[in-house]
Amino acid sequence: MASFRQNALKDAASHEAGRFYMQSGPVSSYFGRNVFDLAKMRKYLSKPAYDAVRAAMTSSAKIDREVANEVATAMKTWALEMGATHYTHIFQPLTGSTAEKHEAFVTIKNGEAFENFSGSALVQQEPDASSFPSGGLRNTFEARGYSAWDPTSPVFLLDGTLCIPSAFVSYNGEALDMKVPSLKALEAIDKAATGVARLFDPKVSHVGVNLGLEQEYFLVDDALYHARPDLMLCERTVIGHTSAKDQQLSDHYFGAIPSRVAAFMQDFETEAYKLGIELKTRHNEVAPNQFECAPVFCEATRAIDQNMLLMIIMQKVAVKHHLKVIFHEKPFDGVNGSGKHCNWSLTTDTGVNLLSPGETPTKNLQFLSFYSCVLKAVANHDYLLMTSISNLNNSYRLGGNEAPPAVMSVFSGSTLSKVFDKIMDMDESPEETGTGSMDSVNMLKSLPEIFQDNTDRNRTSPFAFTGNRFEFRAAGSSCNAASAVYVLNSMVAESLNEFLAETEALLKAGESVQNAVLTTVRKFIASSRKVMFEGNGYSKEWEEEARRRGLRAVENVPDAYKVWLEDSTIKMFESVGVLSRSEVEARYEVLDETYVKKLQIESRVLGDICLNHVIPAAVAYENILVKNIRDGKVIFPDEYKVLCKSEIETYKKISGFVNALSSDVASMVEERKKANAVADMTERAKLYSTNVKGLMDKVRYSADHLEMLVDDELWPLPKYRELLSF
Ligand code: ADP
Ligand code: MG
Repeated sequence: MASFRQNALKDAASHEAGRFYMQSGPVSSYFGRNVFDLAKMRKYLSKPAYDAVRAAMTSSAKIDREVANEVATAMKTWALEMGATHYTHIFQPLTGSTAEKHEAFVTIKNGEAFENFSGSALVQQEPDASSFPSGGLRNTFEARGYSAWDPTSPVFLLDGTLCIPSAFVSYNGEALDMKVPSLKALEAIDKAATGVARLFDPKVSHVGVNLGLEQEYFLVDDALYHARPDLMLCERTVIGHTSAKDQQLSDHYFGAIPSRVAAFMQDFETEAYKLGIELKTRHNEVAPNQFECAPVFCEATRAIDQNMLLMIIMQKVAVKHHLKVIFHEKPFDGVNGSGKHCNWSLTTDTGVNLLSPGETPTKNLQFLSFYSCVLKAVANHDYLLMTSISNLNNSYRLGGNEAPPAVMSVFSGSTLSKVFDKIMDMDESPEETGTGSMDSVNMLKSLPEIFQDNTDRNRTSPFAFTGNRFEFRAAGSSCNAASAVYVLNSMVAESLNEFLAETEALLKAGESVQNAVLTTVRKFIASSRKVMFEGNGYSKEWEEEARRRGLRAVENVPDAYKVWLEDSTIKMFESVGVLSRSEVEARYEVLDETYVKKLQIESRVLGDICLNHVIPAAVAYENILVKNIRDGKVIFPDEYKVLCKSEIETYKKISGFVNALSSDVASMVEERKKANAVADMTERAKLYSTNVKGLMDKVRYSADHLEMLVDDELWPLPKYRELLSF
């Protein structure tokens, strides 16, 4: 009888290339079709309602109930025309993914059916908060939580349902999600950055964050996926011997996209375009079966929401192609893992990218101000920033020779580094000329010209400047980007506030704008030296150098999480009004809890696979070997030890690994039990991260060796070479 694996392999082989979607007409003819965007609002709303929504989108003005009613009716009309039957508030709980509860539009009154959607239903829903992680926040009052419409992100249609991007808060208004701190951090950085930008241009009244999120992912045939309990339950393989050939030849990176994959890409891109997601690039990534797509950057909230939506539609579309998308950071040992690079920049409402060096010295001075604030923010909170992207998944990836190291640093490139050196060597107080007005730039002549330098790239840096933006490369592929971005925005907001306060103090003391700014820039750069690093982030030397500089590396994730409770962290979040102390504490608890639960699941799956798949297969092969040896002994009593040498040796090896495996699995279960008995979550997480994880590595070692020894015919799980065969 063919094994499950063999059937799966046959199924996978029969999954011919998927059909192209063949959307008729150019992308421009259907782009945004499924989004209730500004153009549709203009069509379906009265002028005052349209203006109110626009104001809410750009300046956090509140929408009153009357307008909400009109907007709800317009949304309903459009959604019904498009064939929708339900609506849902889609929110981003602390699980890291999205959540939705669908409500039907239809209402029956006096036996008559009609569609109903009121302003109050749009503005707020009341899903039960008790089943989402809250870090104890909801226990203080009731299980109730509210999801509230976020008008800054457009509503859209998915599978016949009107989806309303929403925030999720507890009964007494504490944030239970990623969106609330994300929106607050955007407000904080807007305010702080506007203050600094106005030193250079009083016309600036708003600064927004732009984000471009590159998404890496793996694709696996769904038949093979379903034959791997670990992929199904953990999104990652907990055992599996590396294939003889994987990425050594670098023949996958930027290689020709396999037709089957190209069909899938075309198909999900079509759906993405309909949802207004402007996907721009696609390519093969380094590891076999690994790919990447990237949209054009846009406003941060939209970018984050669209990325969450993109992950959903990719998975939905994959079904049609008999594929599974793996967003996990490290699904396969021995080959590269996946990231979600966050390309981050700041722009003014006057259209200036504040991280783009200009042609004139004053522009450069503005650029240097913002740049030095980012440097200082990272220097102040390097460990927090690194921890913001640290979790169980990413811990399998970071620090390997494929992803940024687990210690934070900023790469500026040779051009900028030279500029910094020059500035730092300059006279403490450049000559004063004129009144200090905006155009008195003579004394800045000594400020070097700065050119955008896109060729200077450093893939080993977790946080690299790439010409007109920073690229936070350490973020993991499966994360909600908000979790890293609101931390970054908050710390930069704090730094900008400090910059403005110091500069204003100098202005009050009679300094010119240029003098004052330059003095603060210098000070900020000087105090950021410890995180400025231009070399190879993967090297041993950097590890030592980083330690000398006092930069902490995330070596153990639960240990690192403690940085959330440090005074400097809480003070920072409170000072910019993003998270209160109790909200920070709650988040800390959820982080530990999630870490423990995920590792518990992985460890259980590993135990099950070993007991139900690996050991039975190994024993079946042992039985064949034993039979051979026994037969040999009967037929060739004097020579069987020589004739059956290989069988005897293989038997001994297998039996050694089987014994080790079963005793290590038992110890692993024991360690889990011990850890579970510890009430304190921090302590429990620590035990999981050390004792349980340590035994998981041991278990895997034996299982992977057995995979190499046991008859291929008997091996029940698809192997790496089969999973990664595109
Ligand atoms: P690379 O792999 O070379 O980094 P990609 O094209 O894969 O380049 O992705 C670059 C991402 O950075 C895209 O999403 C792009 O829109 C985004 N990006 C470009 N300029 C900016 C900017 N000023 N601010 C934010 N994101 C940007
Ligand atoms: Mg890229």
